[in-house]
Amino acid sequence: MASASTQTEPFLSERMEWDPEWAGVVVGRHGDDRWVLMEMGFNLRLVVVHGDSTGYRYGWCYSRDVEAVLRHLRAFDPETMDEPMGWHKRPGVYEVRRAPGREANPEYNRPRCRHGAYVGEECTVDPFCPDQEQ
Ligand SMILES: [Zn+2]
Repeated sequence: MASASTQTEPFLSERMEWDPEWAGVVVGRHGDDRWVLMEMGFNLRLVVVHGDSTGYRYGWCYSRDVEAVLRHLRAFDPETMDEPMGWHKRPGVYEVRRAPGREANPEYNRPRCRHGAYVGEECTVDPFCPDQEQ
C-alpha cells in the first residue's frame, strides 16, 4: 500500500471529476484523501474526505470564487503544508489539518486562527477574534 509520502501524482486533478456522494468536484488527491470543492450557501467549501468514509475530516470555507480557490491550491503542497491559503473559516469543529511532512516548512505551518490568519497577525474576519491576542 502506497503511503502519502511516496506519492508521485500531482496533487491537483487535471480533469475535475464530479463526486456524486458529496455533490462537488474532486479538485485534488493526496494518498487516500480526496479534496472536494462544493457549493455551500453563499460560500464554497473545500473538504478532505478520507477513503470511503461518510464524513469529512477537514474543511475550509471560501468565498464563491472557484478560480481563486484553484489558485491557492496550485500553490499548495499537501505533503508539507498543513492548510491551504485564502479561506475565511474552518466550518464546525473539524480538526486542524497537520501535513505529514510539516516540519519541512515551519514558517508556513505556524498556528492560524479559525479564520485563516496567522496568530499574531491581523484577523480580517473578526476584529475580536478569540484566537488572536487582544
Ligand atoms: Zn480570526
